[in-house]
Amino acid sequence: MSTNKDNGHHQAISDLFGENTFSLYTLREQVSESTYDEMRSVILAQQKMDTKTAHEIAQVLIKWAMDKGVTHYTHWFHPLTESCAEKHDAFFKPTIDLEAKGIESLSASELVQREPDGSSFPSGGLRATHAARSYTIWDPSSPAFIRETENGKTLYVPAVFISYTGESLDYKTPLLKANHALNIAATAVCHYFDQEVTHVFSTLGWEQEYFLVDEKFFNARPDLLLTGRTIIGGKPAKGQQMDDHYFGSIPERVQNFMKEFELEALKLGIPIVTRHNEVAPGQYEAAPVFEEVNVAVDHNLLIMDVMEKIAIKHQFRILFYEKPFAGLNGSGKHNNWSMANSHGKNLLSPGDNPGSNLLFLTFFINVIKAIHDNGDLLRASIASAGNDHRLGANEAPPAIISVFIGSLLEKVLSTFKTRGMNADPVEENEVIDLQLTKILAIKKDHTDRNRTCPFPFVDNRFEFRAVGASANCAAPMTVLNTIVADQLEAFKKEVDSRGQHSPNREDNIVAVLQGYMEDVDRIVFNGDGYSGAWEKEAAARGLPNNKTTPDAIKVMVSERSKEVFGRQRVFNERELHSRYEVLLENYINKIAIEADLLQEMSRTYVLPAAHESINKLGETYRNLNDMGLKDQAQSLVAQVSPLTDLTIELHNGLSQLMEAKDAADRLSDAPEVAQAYADRVKPHFDKIRASIDKLEGQVDNKIWQLPKYRELLFIR
Ligand code: ADP
Ligand code: MG
Repeated sequence: MSTNKDNGHHQAISDLFGENTFSLYTLREQVSESTYDEMRSVILAQQKMDTKTAHEIAQVLIKWAMDKGVTHYTHWFHPLTESCAEKHDAFFKPTIDLEAKGIESLSASELVQREPDGSSFPSGGLRATHAARSYTIWDPSSPAFIRETENGKTLYVPAVFISYTGESLDYKTPLLKANHALNIAATAVCHYFDQEVTHVFSTLGWEQEYFLVDEKFFNARPDLLLTGRTIIGGKPAKGQQMDDHYFGSIPERVQNFMKEFELEALKLGIPIVTRHNEVAPGQYEAAPVFEEVNVAVDHNLLIMDVMEKIAIKHQFRILFYEKPFAGLNGSGKHNNWSMANSHGKNLLSPGDNPGSNLLFLTFFINVIKAIHDNGDLLRASIASAGNDHRLGANEAPPAIISVFIGSLLEKVLSTFKTRGMNADPVEENEVIDLQLTKILAIKKDHTDRNRTCPFPFVDNRFEFRAVGASANCAAPMTVLNTIVADQLEAFKKEVDSRGQHSPNREDNIVAVLQGYMEDVDRIVFNGDGYSGAWEKEAAARGLPNNKTTPDAIKVMVSERSKEVFGRQRVFNERELHSRYEVLLENYINKIAIEADLLQEMSRTYVLPAAHESINKLGETYRNLNDMGLKDQAQSLVAQVSPLTDLTIELHNGLSQLMEAKDAADRLSDAPEVAQAYADRVKPHFDKIRASIDKLEGQVDNKIWQLPKYRELLFIR
C-alpha cells in the first residue's frame, strides 16, 4: 500500500485523496438525493444546472469550506495569459453598525457569479478599456478546492470568464462549448450502435515535463528570470549524449520535492501516479491518470501552480518553458486523448478484432479524417514562441501534423478500404521468451511506439505529442473536440442521406468510411518523422508545415476556421479575431523582450567580461616583456585576437539585430510585425549567441559572472 508519513504515522493515500476538494463524493452526504442526482448529471452527463440547485449546492459548499477553517474565497479563471487569475475576498463582512459585530457570510449568488474589472486582461480588441465590465460564472463541473498557505485557507471556485456581451475572454468557455458540440455529435453517432447511450465526453491524460534548476543559479541568470529560457550559454562537454539521465535514479533532493507536490496534488484530488527522470539532465516528468477533459485541464493548471510554489520551498526553480536549454531536449506535454460514452466505454478501444469492430472503426477513422481536414487548426492551437524552438527541432515532433497508427491497424485499414469489415482474426501476440528460467515470457504488443509523430495512436487513445510544456491544454483540446464534432456531424449527415436510398445502415456506414480512406492515407505516416525525407514527402502530399507561430496561426482567421468554429458554436468571428490578436501580441512581446535582453546581457555581462580578459592578457604581456621574455609575450597575442575578433563580431551582430527590430517596430499592423520578428529579427539571435558562447569558452572562469550550463544542469 502507498503510504505517506505524517507525524510519524503512516497514512494511506486513499485517506487523504481529495480531502481539499469539493467532489461528488463530498457532496453525497450533505444534500438530498434529488439535488445529488442533479449535480451528478451536471458533472457526468454534461447537463445544465438550474438556479435553484446551484444555490442549494453553493450553500453546502460554503458551509463545507467554513467548517474547514477557510476564510477567503475566489473565482479561479483562465484569462488568455500564461497564468490563472484569482481575486480573493473575505467571507468576513465588517459592518458600519457600531453596535454590531461583522460576521462571516457568503450568499450563494455571490459564489455563483462575480463581476471582476476585467479591463487589464488581454481581450484582443473584444473590449475597449473603458468598457470594463465582465463576468466570472461558477463552473460546477470542475470541483472547487481549498488551498492552504502557512497562515490560512482559501476556497477556489473554478469559473468561466466572459465579457459584458457574452463573448469568451478565457480558455475554459470555448473548451466547454467544444465539449458540448462533441457530446451532441458523438452521441448521435453512438446511437447507430446503441440507443441507450445518453452522452459522450472526452478524456485527457497529460504528461507534464519540466526542468528543475537550483535557485541560486537561476537567480544569477537574468534570462531565466525574465524569459524562462537561457538565451545564451555554451553546451557543456557532457550534455545528454551518455543517455544516463532518462529513467535514472531520482536525486534525493528532487525526490523530496516530488513527494511534497504529489501529496499536495493528491489532497486536491489530482490523481498523480507517475514520476520519472526525462531525457535531458535536470529534466523530469509527472503524469496523472486521465480524467474528463475539463477537469483534467484544470488539474494541470492547478498542479503547475502547486509545483512552482513547492519548488521554491526546496530552493529550486521550475521551468515549464518549451526549450530552456539549447542543444538539449525540450519539454512537452503529451495530451493523451480519447472519447468515452455514458456507459464508460472507450470509443477508441480497438478490442480483439478491430477489423470487425465497426464502432471503433467509425470513431477511429472519423478522428483521422478530422485531423486530415483540420491539421492546420490543430497546429495553430499549440503555436507559441516557446514551442517554435521545439517543433521541428531534432528531438521533438515536426511542425507537420500527421497520424501514426502502427502496422497492425494499417493492415486492418487497408483491408477495410477494399473489402469493408473483415472478421479475420488478428494474429496472436508474439511472445518474447528470453529462455531464462527466472524471467517470465511476455506477450509483445502488436505495435511499437513512434515518438517522431505528433499525433500517434497508442493502444486505445491518441497522444497529441506536439503540445508544449507551458501550454494550457484547453487550447488544443478545444480545437480537437471541435473538429471531431464537426467531422462526426458531417459523417452522420452522409450516412443518413444514403439511408434514404439503401436501408442497410451498416453498409452505409462502411461506404462513407471507405470514402474517407484516400484522405486517411494522406495523413497517416508510420515512418521516421524526424527525417528530412518525411519533410519532402509531406510537402508532396500537400500537408502544411508551418514552422513559426505567425505562419501557424494565420489559419485561425481563415474562412474554414470561421465555418467550423461557427457551425459548432465554439467561437464567433470576433472571438477568433480576438484570439488571433492576443497570440500575435504575445509572440511579438516575447521576441522583443528576448532581443532587448540579449542586448543588455551582452553589454553588461559578456562584453565587460571579454574586455577584462583582454586587459588581463595585456597586463601579462607587458609583465613578460618587462621581464625580457619576448617570445612568451608574443605567444599571448594569439590568445588575444580570438577575443577581440569575437567582440567585434558580437558588436556587429547586436547592431544588426537592433536595426531589424527597429524596422519591424515601424510596421503598422500586428501580423506584419510578428512576421518580421519571426523572419528578420529572430534569426539574429542564433548568430549573436554563437559569438557569445564562443567567448564563454575563452574567458577566464573567474571573470565570467553567469552560471554556465554545467551549474544549471548537473546540480544534485
Ligand atoms: P507514456 O509516457 O509511455 O506515453 P504514461 O504512462 O506516462 O505513458 O502516460 C500515459 C497517459 O495516457 C496517462 O496520463 C494515462 O492516464 C493516459 N491515458 C490512458 N488511457 C487514456 C484514455 N482512454 N484517455 C485519455 N488518456 C488516457
Ligand atoms: Mg507519452
